Amino acid sequence: MQHLDYSQQDSWRQSDDTPLQSPIAINTTTTQSTKESDLALTFDGQTVYDDRVVGEQFLVTGELKISGETWDLERIHFHDGAEHVIDGVRHDLEIHFVYRQGERILVLAVLGDVTDKSIDTHIQEIFTKPIDAKLIADWLPEKHSYYRYVGSLTTPPLGPKVIWIVLSEPIVVSAADLAVIHERYPNNHRDIQDISDRDVLSVHVEK
Ligand SMILES: [Zn+2]
Repeated sequence: MQHLDYSQQDSWRQSDDTPLQSPIAINTTTTQSTKESDLALTFDGQTVYDDRVVGEQFLVTGELKISGETWDLERIHFHDGAEHVIDGVRHDLEIHFVYRQGERILVLAVLGDVTDKSIDTHIQEIFTKPIDAKLIADWLPEKHSYYRYVGSLTTPPLGPKVIWIVLSEPIVVSAADLAVIHERYPNNHRDIQDISDRDVLSVHVEK
């Protein structure tokens, strides 16, 4: 399938898009610290491959609980080069976990960097066959501290209001993992969007 062309991203916006867009650059000196309930995440079943114009997706079931609300996992995909920039740093990779609650969307973003240690993340495997969804828990950092703000999807249709949960601790992936994603989606990260007067909340958890 022909995938989205990131060199044409200036033409993606439509007048009826969500006005406050994603991704954004997060400046941790201006985030607002807040206490919020911890994240609880579960994954079930097996991944199902689904090729879409916006890129290959991996459909999977699971739940995310936050602030007394439960969200249903719909799909996961990868970005070569993180979309969210933290204190001027663009990490090597960003994994998006797209959750729904009726029409509402929440995206959990996990940042990743290449390590030269030998590790097996199952990232290469998921592109070739279904994997046990429980293995996806390995793609989460140990600590679930995060930034939270409201933005948009980062691919067309670029809406609707999306709750973003960006985990602040990056994970590590192998150079071979990133190579697989880069080969399929070289630099599929959308340009940084105007943060405007949006608040970014920072939730720090000890474990
Ligand atoms: Zn994405």
